[in-house]
Amino acid sequence: MGKVYLTGAGPGDLELLTLKALRLVREADVIVYDRLVNKEILKEAQAHCECIYVGKANKHHILPQDEINTLLYEKALKNDVVVRLKGGDSVVFGRGAEEALYLVSKGIDFEFIPGVTSAIAVPEMANIPITHRGKAVSFRVVTGYEAPEKGYAQLDWASFKQDETVIFLMGLHQLKNICTKLMEIGKSKDYPIAVISRGTLKDEKVIVSTLENIYEEAKDLPTPALIVVGEVVGVREALQGVK
Ligand code: SAH
Repeated sequence: MGKVYLTGAGPGDLELLTLKALRLVREADVIVYDRLVNKEILKEAQAHCECIYVGKANKHHILPQDEINTLLYEKALKNDVVVRLKGGDSVVFGRGAEEALYLVSKGIDFEFIPGVTSAIAVPEMANIPITHRGKAVSFRVVTGYEAPEKGYAQLDWASFKQDETVIFLMGLHQLKNICTKLMEIGKSKDYPIAVISRGTLKDEKVIVSTLENIYEEAKDLPTPALIVVGEVVGVREALQGVK
């Protein structure tokens, strides 16, 4: 019986894959990967390695979660090294722990291999530091996808603090609603906000704007995209100085 490595593949840029993840990809007998994983990584796999795509395109899961769980279980029964590759880090809105719990319940050994999460790395590579003295003393990573009926948290908008950066994942389709809610809780219409599309990749796009204007400017950007709200967005301009 083998072991399943729940492995973060980083936000896109190949070089943001950890050495540990790279070693496991090279040792893998089976790799089960998502849409957000840079496919170039798979070139590192051995010739005999079976690479299985279980990606999700928007809300249309190609393989439902319970089938992914079963697949991991079945592959672990017959192979030594099963690598479950996910974009960013598997426990940041990645359902990594759900897969781990399932495997444990079936008596299959697993290990989390942390990845570089897009929530921090994508703003950072766009010169937006998520904390910065005098601008933000904390940050919060939330999902823009609100579905309380499915067990996803309903956001406590009123609790957002003044000196806090908020990073919305899976939020592009909710951009208008997010801006409206933030203005309702008292943020000014010219409060800084950025949308970063395909961060860390060659075709990355960054739009810096205000709560009032960003929707029109960013709504058609390609996914994946994340939203950063807070005074730290303004730091980017100063950091863009040296060309
Ligand atoms: N586990 C992942 C996040 C999964 S949720 C991680 O740690 O990064 C998927 C969301 O992540 C996307 O909807 C988008 O908001 C964000 N995301 C992932 N990769 C991204 C990228 N390269 N650029 C911008 N946003 C990205």
